[in-house]
Amino acid sequence: MANGRSRSVYMDHAATTPTRPEVVEAMLPCFTERFGNPSSLYALAREAKEAVGEARGRVTAAIGARPEEVCFTSGGTESDNWAIKGVAAANRKRGNHIITSAIEHHAVLHPCRTLEKQGFSVTYLPVDELGRVDPGDVEEAITDRTILISVMIANNEIGTIQPVRAIAEVAHDHGIPFHTDAVQAIGAIPIDVDEMGIDLLSLSAHKFGGPKGAGALYVRRGIRIGALMDGGGQERGRRAGTENVPGIVGLGKAIELAVAEAPRSSTRIAAMRDRLIRGILDAIPETRLNGHPTERLPNNVNVAFRYVEGESILLMLDALGISASTGSACTSASLEPSHVLTACGLPPEHAHGSLRLTLGSRNTEEDVDYVLSVLPRVIERLRKMSPISPVR
Ligand code: PLP
Repeated sequence: MANGRSRSVYMDHAATTPTRPEVVEAMLPCFTERFGNPSSLYALAREAKEAVGEARGRVTAAIGARPEEVCFTSGGTESDNWAIKGVAAANRKRGNHIITSAIEHHAVLHPCRTLEKQGFSVTYLPVDELGRVDPGDVEEAITDRTILISVMIANNEIGTIQPVRAIAEVAHDHGIPFHTDAVQAIGAIPIDVDEMGIDLLSLSAHKFGGPKGAGALYVRRGIRIGALMDGGGQERGRRAGTENVPGIVGLGKAIELAVAEAPRSSTRIAAMRDRLIRGILDAIPETRLNGHPTERLPNNVNVAFRYVEGESILLMLDALGISASTGSACTSASLEPSHVLTACGLPPEHAHGSLRLTLGSRNTEEDVDYVLSVLPRVIERLRKMSPISPVR
């Protein structure tokens, strides 16, 4: 019972996930007994250093990397900023052109905009109506000044999974490093940096059962990258600042659990996703699925209802105990239509009526039943109130 409501259903796991109890348990001693600064020279500090090393081992095992290739950061935003700005700074003499996609998270798009102001040029590749980048478009966009290609594995709003292997192949044919934002993909789909041809990869702990404010950037050995943070010599001189030991330990535990459980939990979650999508499309007219029908994150449902406002849907669902989103959490405060849905060619009136439900391992079939039982009435009520709706 939450706030007197009959039910509380959290379906916004793309925004953040609850920190798992096993993760909290692993983190707690780092605040109290094992609180040393890993850079200090006594036993307490060595314990903290060891804990960071163990966590690094867990991250490398999860993505098929080597320990010296993983640097801890403050999260997905820092990792994306570092990858883009760091590669740009280190390769400025070789070129000033970056290729990315129009549907990246703002943590990639905004650093690109910053670099444009500093004299770089950026190609924002279009996507098809299902949100996919065409590797052929990547090939065509390459110039002899291109120094980085950055395309996310899976989109945070519509869940579309990109053909990253093919894109990485194009990049490598031209000797260009390939960065990918894997923030939504870790723990949802298998990732191996060698097999997928990834040179830089961003991840964030709070998206897979870890704490907020902890992330990592994978940088393949030999890739030239400048520092984002200058200061002490932490992370082999690549990322200054006393390590967030509890956060790093939590990240390590969370990624280990998420990746080990992914094959089973993804199948269960995908079945709930499919039941939600089918149930919504069957019950509510003038509704469409956003994103790819099959090349899609197992936990992502994104639908557009004509004649309604996403914000109104969220308010009514919130009153019914359901937490959802109408775009990415970072942009939901603005009234601009989502740049992702717009890039997929959705007219603004559709994009405004979009609803994102993202499932997690704590969700149950009863949660799905509950959403399917209340959502058609919510949309019907809103359409009756809408001045533009013929359904009145
Ligand atoms: N990239 C993607 C695809 C995301 O979904 C997010 C968070 O929503 C980020 C980057 C930013 O990650 P963080 O919240 O750890 O800064």
